[in-house]
Amino acid sequence: MINNDNINSKLPAIKVIGIEKCTSCFGCANACKFNVIEMKISEEGFFKPEIIEDKCVNCGLCSKNCPVISFESNNFTKEEIKTYAAFSTNDTTRLASSSGGIFTEIAESFIEESGIVSGAAWGENLTVKHICIDNKDDLSKLRSSKYIQSNLDTIYSTIVDLVENQGRKVLFTGTPCQVAALKTFTKSENLFTADVLCHGVPSKIIFDEYINSIAKGHKVNSYTFRDKSNGWSKYKVKINIDKMKSYECITRQDPFFHGFICDLYSNLSCYNCKFAAVPRTGDITMGDFWKISEDLMDERGVSVVLANNVKGLSLLHELERQNKIKLFNKDLKDAIKGNPRIHDGFLNMRKKRSEILSKVKEEGFQYIYENYIKNTDRYIPD
Ligand SMILES: Cc1cc2nc3c(=O)[nH]c(=O)nc-3n(C[C@H](O)[C@H](O)[C@H](O)COP(=O)(O)OP(=O)(O)OC[C@H]3O[C@@H](n4cnc5c(N)ncnc54)[C@H](O)[C@@H]3O)c2cc1C
Repeated sequence: MINNDNINSKLPAIKVIGIEKCTSCFGCANACKFNVIEMKISEEGFFKPEIIEDKCVNCGLCSKNCPVISFESNNFTKEEIKTYAAFSTNDTTRLASSSGGIFTEIAESFIEESGIVSGAAWGENLTVKHICIDNKDDLSKLRSSKYIQSNLDTIYSTIVDLVENQGRKVLFTGTPCQVAALKTFTKSENLFTADVLCHGVPSKIIFDEYINSIAKGHKVNSYTFRDKSNGWSKYKVKINIDKMKSYECITRQDPFFHGFICDLYSNLSCYNCKFAAVPRTGDITMGDFWKISEDLMDERGVSVVLANNVKGLSLLHELERQNKIKLFNKDLKDAIKGNPRIHDGFLNMRKKRSEILSKVKEEGFQYIYENYIKNTDRYIPD
């Protein structure tokens, strides 16, 4: 339980919620007017706030922008939400995207109206960071899922300035906790948000050790988790490495990804995440429509899209009217079948999680694979 007395005494947000509930959203760091909160990668491999104690004035601003403390969604309830199977009518877009290419269609509609799109892009040394773009050529940077925590740096402050002071329309895309954090900063009508159905985020130190085990010190030129050359259902990890043969593997059989979807090394807050359940945080939600009915199954990819409020609903219908996307009415239960976390935000906490995270640096990824990942099966709730 979060202790409300601590909020009144204006302790920094991280001291109110505790490190285990911190989603790594960067809300507190963006809120701090005194620049005394730095986001650093923790021993477990997740962004966490570090406070420069002697400079913190205990003003309590960071608690106002910590979504764990200050965000309540007033979006549609389970009964009200509109669920669709959806895909882009542009095959090039659809094939280049993780699922049905809905993100690109929404993003293009903003850019066509001189808007700005913010989302996660690969950065230096296989890090992921949020950037803002305003032209279609840069959309490829944001397209496709990167299953690594994104560095949001000062993006919320930038977006608040864009929507409130400059009157620009902005589409922000990210995990549900990131969308919740941004919404604690602004209620501007100029902001539209799309969250991803989120399985949680895995540890960066595990990812780095896994890359070392494959690239063996060579430079990685490009990395994708979602190559569709085998089709949507058998999507591949593809890594292009300097002076080495490319690495290719069906993503669900890839050792790192398998450990991630078996919940062996996700951020602690992901195991019981209110943002991953309904009511959602974004105006719309985008994911993969796993377990889609036979009549709509298509190896080019099908998205599950949730309209979480009237704003989200009208945008989807406008894109359908312009024949940019196809929408098919579905029941929320159909989406939950392939994405059970929508129901309650629950992930199966693995007993060996902290052991894995404490051993990986010393023992290396291969040891973790042999001893923990290889014989673990994915947890499927009843
Ligand atoms: C960490 C993570 C976990 C996910 N878990 C699930 C899941 O369990 N089930 C499911 O159905 N779908 C999940 N998704 C969503 C899914 O992978 C696709 O993003 C979604 O189907 C949209 O696909 P698309 O074809 O419309 O667009 P794409 O072009 O593939 O979507 C790209 C979008 O994802 C955002 N994005 C990419 N990487 C990150 C990141 N690291 N952090 C924040 N935002 C990011 C981009 O900003 C962009 O908006 C997850 C995505 C992420 C990033």
